[in-house]
Amino acid sequence: MATDLISSETLVLEMPTWDLVGKQAFVTGGARGIGRALALALAAVIGTGALLPVALPLWAESRSGRHAGPATAPGGRELAPDEALRKLLDGNRRFVGSDSLHPNQSIQWCRAVAEEQHPFAVVLGCSDSRVPPEVIFDGGLGDLFVVRAAGHIADDAAVGSIQYAVEHLGVPLVVVLGHKNCGAVRATVHAVTRRIEPRGHIARLVEDIKPTVEMHRGRSGDLVEHAVRGNVQRVIRQLLTSNPVLNESVRRGRIRIVGAYYDLHTGQVELL
Ligand SMILES: [Zn+2]
Repeated sequence: MATDLISSETLVLEMPTWDLVGKQAFVTGGARGIGRALALALAAVIGTGALLPVALPLWAESRSGRHAGPATAPGGRELAPDEALRKLLDGNRRFVGSDSLHPNQSIQWCRAVAEEQHPFAVVLGCSDSRVPPEVIFDGGLGDLFVVRAAGHIADDAAVGSIQYAVEHLGVPLVVVLGHKNCGAVRATVHAVTRRIEPRGHIARLVEDIKPTVEMHRGRSGDLVEHAVRGNVQRVIRQLLTSNPVLNESVRRGRIRIVGAYYDLHTGQVELL
């Protein structure tokens, strides 16, 4: 057994501590006396290349040398909705504070989660290239179930994807994430205020957001900002009214659906 060999004191004196979780092996301690190259060489020498995914430690060190933590953190099924929300916001705080851990992004972790996924949150967000959920929430592979479209439009495919995550993956939290200066909302504001007809399939996006823009027209302040926040609330209402599984899951307290707003300048996410 490669794991027996790895834990043998005669061969390796300072290997990390191992926890066996199901079929996967996870590291809980730091690697100190042996490098990854040495472990690879060892495995090559004893001809256990096929066992590398199990035998090699999942190095959970960030580039700054701090422990990345979530290597053994519970998945979505083990978290209550409030705990999942706290975990998500903690990740954003790290991002804003230039303290990101970049967890669960190694090729070893990629192998570890290949068989199944237990994301702890669904993020329905905009396609905007400046709002990637894994970056702004400091997550990694298997952490977030992400659904994106311009203006975070909840069309049938998006709602079906969210239902799948809640019903089959047991995800306890759904976040609808709008953002400052959203292009889809801005295009809709232009379409409404300047009577410009959008071309092609962009018309489909504008059609969804239009009622929100019209509702906030006439208010003092920035119409785009009002509409961005209103659009988040509209999509939450849409999820609750169009999908019985989501509605019932919320009523039973099994999941939470929350609205959030991302500031492009500060990197901060605030709950709406
Ligand atoms: Zn956007």
